[in-house]
Amino acid sequence: PAEVVPQAPEDPLFGLMRAYKADESPNKVDLGIGAYRDDNAKPWVLPVVKKADEILRNDPEANHEYLPIAGLASLTSKAAELLLGTSAPALAEKRTASVQTISGTGAVHLGALFLAKFYKIQGANRTVYVSNPTWANHHQIFTNVGLPIATYPYFNKETKGLDFEGMKAALAAAPDGSVILLHACAHNPTGVDPTPEQWRELVSLMRAKKHFPFFDTAYQGFASGDLDRDAGAIRLFVEEGFELVIAQSFAKNFGLYGERAGCFHYVASPSADAAELTTRVASQLAILQRSEISNPPIYGARIASIVLNDSALFAEWQENLRTMSGRIIDMRKQLRGKLEELGTPGTWNHITDQIGMFSFTGLNETQVLKLRTDYHIYMTKNGRVSMAGLNTRNVGYVAAAIDKVVRE
Ligand code: PMP
Repeated sequence: PAEVVPQAPEDPLFGLMRAYKADESPNKVDLGIGAYRDDNAKPWVLPVVKKADEILRNDPEANHEYLPIAGLASLTSKAAELLLGTSAPALAEKRTASVQTISGTGAVHLGALFLAKFYKIQGANRTVYVSNPTWANHHQIFTNVGLPIATYPYFNKETKGLDFEGMKAALAAAPDGSVILLHACAHNPTGVDPTPEQWRELVSLMRAKKHFPFFDTAYQGFASGDLDRDAGAIRLFVEEGFELVIAQSFAKNFGLYGERAGCFHYVASPSADAAELTTRVASQLAILQRSEISNPPIYGARIASIVLNDSALFAEWQENLRTMSGRIIDMRKQLRGKLEELGTPGTWNHITDQIGMFSFTGLNETQVLKLRTDYHIYMTKNGRVSMAGLNTRNVGYVAAAIDKVVRE
């Protein structure tokens, strides 16, 4: 069949990473890939993850057997608590079904597959609405399972904040019962989140339209440093009684990127037969999982489970999260401060207003490419900067380079 297979383009993000690696300049700066770096620009193994790894290595019972199809139960149950809160009625009423997945990507995929198979309510629209822009993989994942995609406005180019009016108008215009993909916190790529009041407005609008929320949460605790706060939007929708699904990644908040630890959760609306419906959903998720990956990987799941099930380690994890989010917030302040000191044309408040791993700088493609060729600073073409790539030694260099390309 190879004769009919066209050459596919390289993944832009991984292509960028390759170009960065090949660059021999001592000044080069990687603001592309979304992975945390410490102030020395090095990957950071969380101290709490090192401790959990030690515990695991000394566990005489540990082996390399298969996990169950739905994954490590001690992880999935705590993962649901982490999202919904330990005392959530949805948990007590057994209205949640949780499955361990191949990190967040696998969770989005399992959710997409589940909806492709079962979201066939009479008259409901199978189109999945994603924000414009969104994490590029959303488009590919939903398209791969045959679900059509539409977009809703999200980013206001003028304010570099949320286009809330545009978003609401699009959700109101979408056919009733549409699937709406929402980033729970630290929106990728813009770093722009709705305020708590705006989330409440979205609840009213989506309830009136009978829309189905599909939450993607890849930055809980990593965004604000507060796990509960970063789960606020999800908890609000669950408390308001929505039936919904959640794709949860432990890549960023545990620094377990390559271990592929994550979960997919289904939450039923409160009703007399909610627990029974949930059991049925869980049985179907198990069938889908079996045909896709048989069972999920064990190492990252065990690490996360050890931390989530031990109160002292959990407290240490929260401390580690504050270290990461605190450094990023500090870099936001420094970058903005330096640009303002230089009097760089334009406004730069959005750099500190935005939250999480990324900042949508507003730099255009020409400026981005100039930063790459003239200054060895690598970011995606849409002007997205991974804040974790900044540190106390390069932030001045980056600000000066941005200043130069903006003035040209
Ligand atoms: N969703 C969003 C919005 C993301 O930013 C990411 C990480 N880039 C993911 C999902 C999933 O990443 P992973 O599969 O590494 O958990």
